[in-house]
Amino acid sequence: MQSLSPSSWNNFEACPRKFWLSRQRLPRKAGMASSLGTAVHDSVEDLCNIDLSGRSDEEVGWLPGAAKAILTRQWDDEREKFFNTPRHPKWKEEEFENAQKQLIGALNILFKKAGYKQVSLASISVAQWKDIQEMILAAEGTLRSSCGRLMGRLDLLIADRDEDGNTVGWIVADLKTGKPPDGEVYDTVSRQLRMYRDLLIANNPNHPKITAEGWYSKNSSVYVADGPNVIDDAMAAWEASQLTPEPFEGTPSSDACAFCEYKAWCPSWPWAKANGNLESHGTFRDYVVKILRLEDDCSVGLVEITAPTDESGNMLPTGQKYGIILSGYAQEHMKNIVDLAPDWETEFVFLGSVNVGGSSWRMGDWCDVLMWKPLLRSTRE
Ligand code: SF4
Repeated sequence: MQSLSPSSWNNFEACPRKFWLSRQRLPRKAGMASSLGTAVHDSVEDLCNIDLSGRSDEEVGWLPGAAKAILTRQWDDEREKFFNTPRHPKWKEEEFENAQKQLIGALNILFKKAGYKQVSLASISVAQWKDIQEMILAAEGTLRSSCGRLMGRLDLLIADRDEDGNTVGWIVADLKTGKPPDGEVYDTVSRQLRMYRDLLIANNPNHPKITAEGWYSKNSSVYVADGPNVIDDAMAAWEASQLTPEPFEGTPSSDACAFCEYKAWCPSWPWAKANGNLESHGTFRDYVVKILRLEDDCSVGLVEITAPTDESGNMLPTGQKYGIILSGYAQEHMKNIVDLAPDWETEFVFLGSVNVGGSSWRMGDWCDVLMWKPLLRSTRE
């Protein structure tokens, strides 16, 4: 049985077709933000589990080196996974510094929760870190509903202590390396946090008070997710998201489609765009095109925009032609298409995030170049 996690639930709510496509074993896309997030998450987990036996309790100055060594190892792992993912943009090694800052930001929240205010990593003694480890009830755990339909991987479960160090409750925390909200916690994050909270409640009849928090490492801020129990809604979403051979309905919107990695397989967005139901503005845009001409090295070409004739992704050229300049991964991916897709001259190609700001279109490391293959039937049968 396939379980519904908070992130797949959010995907389903944002656009059911995105959820359906995410379950079709299509080539995955890596991204720098998620690699950085995973490296920071896994480093926090490793530090929470670090074995300090045999070290003097008074020792200070050990944490900065330990944190950097762990982060470097996790960073190297993420880089390797990134390049092994079939679709990936350019790796930004310079983001390591940002990852280091975010790890420090996350550790600062832990210090505050343990009652150590305004301390530097270097000043944390072995005894203090052991005390923090005692406060941590679980670092990276899987929560599952008894029926197996719902699951979630929580980052941290910690004891909520009063000023005297007595446990007065539990805090289920999810570490966020993205942009902190301006005001209230984002709806998607609130739903995710409450699902962790409510799974904990359901699985632990004698639980103390449980608070669900989003920890934003960027500025060490903490957001509490309040609100009603979400388990009934999550169960209804599990029911509604049981896969069918036919795709689920697409609900295109600027928010849902902006970073959707399945556009090359989704006929909903061009149909919505053609009917004026999805805005197309800004410098970076998506198109399905016919390639009219291409230099041998795929650095320069001429393309013609297409428009849909129906909701199934059938396209026709419009007569609007544009010169295109390709470099980096876009050029490499175009070469792959020319080498591996025998129909590229007669079929259509999806170009994602084209820079249309100049007289010629520009494509580089940030772009998708994929054959246009609207998926109208499940590949899982
Ligand atoms: S491109 Fe838009 S409509 Fe299509 S699956 Fe993605 S989010 Fe849904």
